[in-house]
Parts: sequence; C-alpha cells; structure tokens
Amino acid sequence: MVLLDGKKTAQDIQLEIAEKVKCLKADGKKTPHLAAILVGGDGASLTYVNAKVKACEKVGFESTLVHIDATTSEEDLLNKIDELNNDDAIDGFIVQLPLPKHIDEAKVTLAVSPRKDVDGFHPENIGKMCLNLPTFLPATPNGVLEMLKRYNIETSGKHCVVIGRSHIVGSPMSILMARNGNPGNATVTLTHSRTSNLKEICATADILIAAVGRPLFVTADMVKEGAVVVDVGIHRVEDSSKKSGFKLIGDVDFANVSEKCSHISPVPGGVGPMTIASLMMNTLSAIELK
Ligand code: NAP
Repeated sequence: MVLLDGKKTAQDIQLEIAEKVKCLKADGKKTPHLAAILVGGDGASLTYVNAKVKACEKVGFESTLVHIDATTSEEDLLNKIDELNNDDAIDGFIVQLPLPKHIDEAKVTLAVSPRKDVDGFHPENIGKMCLNLPTFLPATPNGVLEMLKRYNIETSGKHCVVIGRSHIVGSPMSILMARNGNPGNATVTLTHSRTSNLKEICATADILIAAVGRPLFVTADMVKEGAVVVDVGIHRVEDSSKKSGFKLIGDVDFANVSEKCSHISPVPGGVGPMTIASLMMNTLSAIELK
C-alpha cells in the first residue's frame, strides 16, 4: 500500500512556489498577497486560517488576517469584502467557512470578486471550471487532483466514486474527475445521502473519494481490492492522551481500509495540507492572470 503523503507533497509544491516568488521579486514584480477573513471562529477555523497564513510566510507571500467579531452584521462583512475587492495590494482573498448562522453564505460567496476568489467558490469560476476554461479551481478538489497527478495515479477510463455533493468539495470534485484532462477522463458516480446501494457502488470504484463528513464512514467492505482511496474528511475526536485533548480522524476507517487498497491518503497529513498548497497555487496564478 502506498501512502498518499499530502504533507510531503504540499511541502514540495510550496518549495516550487517559493522559487517562483523569488523570481517575481528579483524581476521587481509584485509579491503575491493573500488575505483571509475569519468571522468569529471556533478552534478549528482559527487553526485552518492560521495554517494558511503560515503557508504564505513559507512561500514568501504577503498575508493579511482580518479577524472580525462573531456578532458582526452581514452588511459589515459585505462592506469588508468590498474593501478587499477594491484594494490593489490584495491579489486574492478567502472568507473562512463556516460563517455564523445570521450571515448568508451564498450572498458572501457572490460578493467576492471572481478575480480575487482564490477559493474558487464564485459561480463565475465554477462555471469556467465546468467549461474547462482557465480559472481558480476550488482549493480542496484541486488539491486532490494535484495529489493524484504527483503520485502518477491513472484516472483515465477509471471508475471514480465520490461520496458527498457539497458545493465546495463533492460536486466540483466529480466535475474535475470527469473533465477532459489529466487527471480526469474518469467515469464518475456522484453519491449522496439519498443514494441507494451506496456500499455496492463504492465497492466498484477504482478511485474512491470520501467527502461525506462522517467519521470512519468508509469501511473495508465498501472498498475494492487495489482501489485508490482519498479521504477528504476531517473530524476532531476527544483523545486524552494528546496535549490538545483531541486527535484528527477522517471519513475512512484507515486501519482496515489500508489493508485492502493500493493507495490511501491519511488524516491528518493527506488532503488538508494539499488544500493549503492549492490555495497558494491559486494565489500565485492570481498574479499571473493579471
Ligand atoms: P457537507 O457539506 O456536510 O457535505 C456532506 C455530503 O455528504 C453531502 O452531500 C451529504 O449528502 C453527503 N452525505 C451525508 N451523509 C451521507 C450518507 N450517510 N451517505 C451518503 N452521503 C452522505 O460536507 P463538506 O463540506 O463537503 O465536507 C466533507 C468533509 O470534508 C468534512 O469532514 C469536512 O470537515 C471535510 N473537509 C476537509 C477539507 C480539507 O481541506 N481536508 C476541506 C473541506 C472539507 P446530502 O447532500 O444528500 O445531504
């Protein structure tokens, strides 16, 4: 079994980006600048945003963290987004999800300028992705693609089953795997909570991508011998042996599934770091698209 080491792969990508940033600077060009808006923020969101800011430092980007109070109004948040849209110093920005319940996520997604939408969530960028036009690809699915590419996983003609159809992971993942490209050209089955015979469908997958948001949901009986398994899920579960009091697990029962598959991504150290690397790739391309 080959471990799809997202941590190592993300480090390689960050080194490559750092080299490109050095060249930009040497040529007297602008240093890419990523901003992140965090509204309130429980422990997990704060951890994710901090990891993104830290990654910016590593690759030589400038970064700005805009931390807004959880009680801020939707209008104030939209004004802040407008400010960043019009700030020439900022090349791209993200609004960390989830948002507090009183803020409409769809409105926020629409408010971010498609030119600065390095998370790739704006409908204009989603549309371009579907049409295979150059654009910002959604960070997590693109991180998965990059991982498959760097591990030379053949996707063309393979049956790929994606579990989960969220706008930010499952749905774009299925489109990218089916697109005419490399990686891509897979025959894709997109499954969700209303899918009948989910276990049987998963067991026919050459490539199984779990983005279901349920801890250890994918068990060994759902996996074909020799399949490639990508685990997008992240869950914090209590663990008194850890200093933090918790550990991270995924959507896949790693211990048992890893005995059966050819490749598997771990949690932590799999898709998570690839998502951040993908965000860095998008921010660099924001400069290049300019
Ligand atoms: P989400 O919005 O909750 O979507 C979950 C999807 O799974 C939904 O489409 C849902 O179906 C489907 N589902 C739920 N229960 C199911 C069941 N019993 N059988 C089949 N399908 C079922 O979650 P998400 O935002 O896509 O995130 C998924 C996981 O990835 C979470 O653990 C999240 O923390 C993690 N994540 C990780 C990263 C990273 O960087 N590694 C990034 C984003 C998310 P319905 O549509 O029918 O409800």
